[in-house]
Amino acid sequence: MPELPEVETVARGVARHVTGCRIASVVLGRGDIVHGEGVPVCAFLRGRRIERVGRRGKQIHIELGGGRTLVVHLGMTGRLIAVDRDTPVETHTHLRIGFDRRRVEMRFIDPRRFGGLWLLVTPPTAANWIGRRLPPVGVDALTISFKEFRDAIARRRQIKALMLDQRPIGGIGNIYADESLHRAGVHPLTRADRLDTAGVRRLWRCVRRVLEQAVEAGGSSISDYRTADNEPGHFQVRHRVYQRAGRPCPKCRTPIEHLTAAGRSTFICPKCQPSGR
Ligand SMILES: [Zn+2]
Repeated sequence: MPELPEVETVARGVARHVTGCRIASVVLGRGDIVHGEGVPVCAFLRGRRIERVGRRGKQIHIELGGGRTLVVHLGMTGRLIAVDRDTPVETHTHLRIGFDRRRVEMRFIDPRRFGGLWLLVTPPTAANWIGRRLPPVGVDALTISFKEFRDAIARRRQIKALMLDQRPIGGIGNIYADESLHRAGVHPLTRADRLDTAGVRRLWRCVRRVLEQAVEAGGSSISDYRTADNEPGHFQVRHRVYQRAGRPCPKCRTPIEHLTAAGRSTFICPKCQPSGR
């Protein structure tokens, strides 16, 4: 599943291609991938200018002006790409947006449809809501301050479960939870409120550093993830523990172990990350 660095890379790529462009055409393949304010999607989008493309946690926010936003969630297998309009249309392309006097076309492709699109107006008019609610997102993990991080994890829950829950901190998923816990020397099953201040500070630094480095590398390409230009990312070559069971820890050479934490496949170095329970 694309996490913060992958979504940031996609948002930046799309922003480069479509910011300032006016929407000329909308082709919606499946109506049931769009949720939110109950307005006809194609009519809602057509003629609007894209003012800004940003990100909140794992969500891409495409601001359309007039208090209107199109939110894209990539889910497990979703891709948002900006390609030449003559590029052959792949199967599972659910939305195509073309622009005035531009050859670029923005496309949302999602074979498994765990992702989706949300049309929002500000202030919200919940009365005519259609489809799924947009999942809430906490403080963004890329820019979270130490104090915000400390407050977000001061709970009686396992640290990895807390990091994956998007409500206190937005953007961290399975890969970057494991990678930052390893770098910080914290066992994923440690109860978060039992970390001392030095441990919390170390983990906060590692989360931000790992995410920054991964953004610079264009994200990690495992399974379906591609950038807005439909290219793979490169951070996966710098994974120290994720999907490396049995291989030596890059820091101490102890074989990486696989376990389950927060119901997810988890990778640790048993020496660098002693059990904190
Ligand atoms: Zn180690």
